[in-house]
Amino acid sequence: MSKDLTLDPSDWDAFRASAHEMLDASINQMMAAREGRVWTPLPEDQKQGFTGPLPREGRDVTNQMEALLPHGVGNTHPRFFGWVHGAGTPSNILADITAAAMNANLGGRDHGAIYVEKQVVDWCREIFGFPADSSGLIVSGTSIATLIALKAARDRITDFESRKTGRPEKLVGYTSTQTHTCVARTFDILGIGSDALRKIPVNAQFEIDCDALRTAIDEDRKAGFTPFVIVGTAGAVNVGAIDDLEQLASISNDQDLWFHVDGAFGAPGMLSDLLRPKLKGLSKADSIAFDFHKWLHVNYDAGMILMRSEDTHRRTFSERPDYLKGADRGLAAGNPWPTEYGPELSRGFRALKVWSQLATHGTEKLGALITRNCEQAQYLAKLVDETDGFERLAPVPMQICCFRFCPDDAPHDKIDLLNDEIVMRLQEDGIAAPSTTLIDGKNAIRVNITNHRTTFEDLDLLVREINRIGRLIVSESAET
Ligand SMILES: *Cc1c(COP(=O)(O)O)cnc(C)c1O
Repeated sequence: MSKDLTLDPSDWDAFRASAHEMLDASINQMMAAREGRVWTPLPEDQKQGFTGPLPREGRDVTNQMEALLPHGVGNTHPRFFGWVHGAGTPSNILADITAAAMNANLGGRDHGAIYVEKQVVDWCREIFGFPADSSGLIVSGTSIATLIALKAARDRITDFESRKTGRPEKLVGYTSTQTHTCVARTFDILGIGSDALRKIPVNAQFEIDCDALRTAIDEDRKAGFTPFVIVGTAGAVNVGAIDDLEQLASISNDQDLWFHVDGAFGAPGMLSDLLRPKLKGLSKADSIAFDFHKWLHVNYDAGMILMRSEDTHRRTFSERPDYLKGADRGLAAGNPWPTEYGPELSRGFRALKVWSQLATHGTEKLGALITRNCEQAQYLAKLVDETDGFERLAPVPMQICCFRFCPDDAPHDKIDLLNDEIVMRLQEDGIAAPSTTLIDGKNAIRVNITNHRTTFEDLDLLVREINRIGRLIVSESAET
């Protein structure tokens, strides 16, 4: 009996058979990504299947997992345009299988997986023109990467005293009104407080107003505050604006401030011939936070913090108690350990799927796909501009197009509701999945194209369907 008390299968052949079936089902799911509905909510009976008491005895759950496959958020479908999601790749399924089989912990020590992460960090240095002695860490996403970066910025300005004393007094930082909420949340988590994040107005291109930024820094200094960081954005949430990174780098330099860039989806644009010129200033940042799971389509989740000063990065997090002591040889070698660069000790092998994505597809193709998405957003903007009843609400600097449906016969005070309703019907009917946002107080249909499966025809269809559904809603409400 005690011999059977293990989590390994009692019948390996049966396990192998069901594993092969699961793999086939997973590949079929990816192969059919273009077919069928975009979003398919989980049916009631399946929801029921995921409620129940804590299982005291085990059972085979392969079929239940397989049945879950079609009920994702929809981001593997070419007409998923909501928020900013990557589309994933079939090749990453293999990386995840390998990583699960190795079951590696990348907190530290000297083992195979660590070398894969080192390679990914090295490739990222090359992409962003960072020095060879800079440091990087793969994390779950840009939110955590931002936390790591701004903690380093905070600790550096207090000469690392804030690590012991807690809340540093009167620190303030700067970003634009277009910033992602993760920046304010980081100020909150770090004990600096979200009020200390100054949101600087933007220009007509939705880029930070650098003159207003300089003025704000001067005023804060005069009022006795201690400015410590400027957070630029390479791809802002609403319209995809790229701040003038060169100018932000120069202001940061003049003012002796940390220059961090949130490049969650935009930073990988460095691989695109179209976007690279606009992103050159990235190489001057003190830190860059970005995602692999957005425009590089690594299957969720994976992001990175890249930091210019390895010394600052390590001094911000390094703690080596006796039980985690390093060594020159043996398994405890390979110092410094990744855990010295972030808050996590145990870390999974996300690096493998990132490495596999870059190695399998190459930066040329990944960059060309980014370029194509930008061209598609321009194409959509043109369609919107040329179609009766549509109004574009923002410039299209990258891959996001914001517009609304507002035909003359629609009641003026109901335009926002109309556009909400259009988006919900598109999603519920499984046709497409854009999201909404507010642009200058107007409710916009926001179409984000970070999708290697999207075709130009998908955008024709989108505009056609918005027109059809929009007119239907207008006539429905005229009747009631
Ligand atoms: C998605 C996003 C984030 C947050 O990244 P996560 O990977 O979701 O943590 C931050 N900033 C911008 C601009 C984003 O688009």
